[in-house]
Amino acid sequence: MSVTAVRSVSDLRRHLAPWRKAGESIALVPTMGALHEGHLSLVALARSKADRVVASIFVNPIQFGPREDFTRYPRDEAGDLAKLGSAGADLVFAPGTAEMYPDGFSTKVYVGDLTEDLCGASRPNHFDGVATVVAKLLLQCAPDLAVFGEKDYQQLLVIKRLVRDLDIPVEIVGGPIVREEDGLALSSRNVYLSPAERKIAPLLHQTISAVAADLSEGRGADDASQAGRFKLEAAGFRVDYVAVRDPDTLKRLSGPVKRARVLAAAYLGRTRLIDNVAVPVPTSR
Ligand code: AMP
Repeated sequence: MSVTAVRSVSDLRRHLAPWRKAGESIALVPTMGALHEGHLSLVALARSKADRVVASIFVNPIQFGPREDFTRYPRDEAGDLAKLGSAGADLVFAPGTAEMYPDGFSTKVYVGDLTEDLCGASRPNHFDGVATVVAKLLLQCAPDLAVFGEKDYQQLLVIKRLVRDLDIPVEIVGGPIVREEDGLALSSRNVYLSPAERKIAPLLHQTISAVAADLSEGRGADDASQAGRFKLEAAGFRVDYVAVRDPDTLKRLSGPVKRARVLAAAYLGRTRLIDNVAVPVPTSR
């Protein structure tokens, strides 16, 4: 199944206009391409909630730091279009960098508070880049809803806050994390892992799940997250953070907790992996 790809905002709007005129609802699924089943699950979720699904593919240069992997980020547009066609997307928006950031582009969207720590601490400007591109995509497409993965949990909350603060008329929907059988969260960056690193990688999910289980049994948040950090370090990860946070505000929690999110970021070699789990662990997953 093939799907139409458009490259300009004007073409995007030309395709959307008749759908809107017919009263059809539109869902947007923003991605950076190199698509896997995690992305496609978001397309399926969008399909279940809207009449039309638009997916975007744009490797957003302004959300990468100068020493990060923008140039080597995996790209496979032909493969992505085939996958999106089969998954039932109606349209793909795949703009070039000049369409998104023409000469003289000088606006930045900054979401405070939620972006100060966790991934924001080790990736300065990352969330400004995310908020800026997502604000643009939402204004370009003006969807009724937009779907983002819980895989990037902090990002999901940042986007909900952005939409609330700027009164952007869109519903933000979060989709559950899709994992490999051994628990590793699917990520476009998993291709960077060497075979040896790939063997160790599932320990990230195992470890934060153990932290979540400890918390459910009443262990204190600091104690449980510290134990998680040690476990990851012993396995060969360079740990950025293992954190126990309020699931809505990302505020720090300490002592015994009732509802929380355990979030972690850790490097294997040059590859930065992130993951998170809910506390209490939902029984349906
Ligand atoms: P990316 O292409 O990495 O920017 O991701 C595009 C969207 O897919 C984001 O909303 C991610 O949170 C989401 N996503 C990435 N990996 C997964 C996964 N394993 N399960 C569910 N959603 C995911």
